[in-house]
Order: sequence, then structure tokens, then C-alpha cells
Amino acid sequence: MGGSKKHYILLDCGFTTPHRYFADCFDPDQLEALWISHFHGDHFFGVPLLLLRFWEMGRVKPLLLAGPDGLREKIEMALDLAYPSFLGKLRYALEYRELEDGDSFQGAGFLWQVAATEHSQPDGRYTVGSANLAKGCTLMVHEAYRVAGQTANHGSLAECLALARQAGCEKLAIVHVAHYERERKSGELRRLLGESGLPGVFLPEPGESLDL
Ligand SMILES: [Zn+2]
Ligand SMILES: [Zn+2]
Repeated sequence: MGGSKKHYILLDCGFTTPHRYFADCFDPDQLEALWISHFHGDHFFGVPLLLLRFWEMGRVKPLLLAGPDGLREKIEMALDLAYPSFLGKLRYALEYRELEDGDSFQGAGFLWQVAATEHSQPDGRYTVGSANLAKGCTLMVHEAYRVAGQTANHGSLAECLALARQAGCEKLAIVHVAHYERERKSGELRRLLGESGLPGVFLPEPGESLDL
């Protein structure tokens, strides 16, 4: 993606992300950008460990951090709680990019465009803006917290499949399925995926990689 050179970005960094990330990555300078969708722990509480490990490994390359307004403050708070006074020791720069609905910029070899979604923190059910962004995408990564029905501000699997069909996405990765739903409703989940008419739909497993 992003031309002939490979670019590395990380989308959200939850509790277990650094462990998974460093199981495969031994180059401290490989990651170019980290995107944080919103400030719930399962999306950014892994950042202190990620940054600490890069420091331990001798990272020198600046890291782009992109996300919603207040990103810098939240990351610095989390760092300070996890490893007090660590921020001052970093030998690589953190370059913050705080974005609002409709913003776009070029960074790490990508064109980034953002649109707000619905959630108590904005990461959930799609909106007109986020549906527009999805049009013609090669890969859509979308949350579906519930297999059927709805929780406030989160989407359901059925909604998500409909959105991908409408948008004409080649591949759809369904993420953020509630743990209890993934387990108890696995039959219904598989059936919905099978009947979706989307050959490229899948539930990514930890560490799974995909060539685009
Ligand atoms: Zn959330
Ligand atoms: Zn979440």
C-alpha cells in the first residue's frame, strides 16, 4: 500500500497489542504512525508499553501519533501514570496530529481522512460521513460489537455487512465483536457471514496478516 515502498502503521493500541506487536517486530524504527480512534482503554492503554519498548530497543525515528482532539494530553497522562518521568528520556520524537471530523492529511505514505462515528467515545456505529469514506475501499476494518441487535453507539454485524455491500468494499475485517457474543453466537455469526454475499469478509485472528 502507499506506493512501492512498504509503510507500517498501527491502528489502535489496546491492552494486549504491544505483546502481539513485538512477537513479530524486532525493528524499533519500523512503525511510522500510530492511529488512536478514541480514548477507551482497549484502544490506547497499550501505548505506554509500546513507546517504552521502542525506547529500550533504541528507536531514533520520530513516531507520528494521529487521533482525536486531546490526543497529546491523553497519551502523556497515560505515560505519566504508567512510567513517571519516562517521557523526558525518550530519544525519539513524538509528532502529534489531532484531527476533527472531515480532516485529512498526508503522513507515513498514506492519505488519512477521518469521519466521526457514533459511540460514547467516537468509534462505533457508522454515520453518513464514515459510510462515504468506505466507498470503494480495498479493505474496510469495522467494528460490530453485537452479532444481532444494537447496543447504544455500537454497530451490529448485520449493519456492518450492509454497509460493506453498499460501499463496494473488496474485503471486510470485522473487529471488536463482544467476547460473549463471539463465543455464544458463533453459529449465527458464521451463518450471517456466509449469507452476506461478501466473499472477502473475515474475522481477523491475533497476528493474522493480509496482503493488499
Ligand atoms: Zn470504545
Ligand atoms: Zn473498544
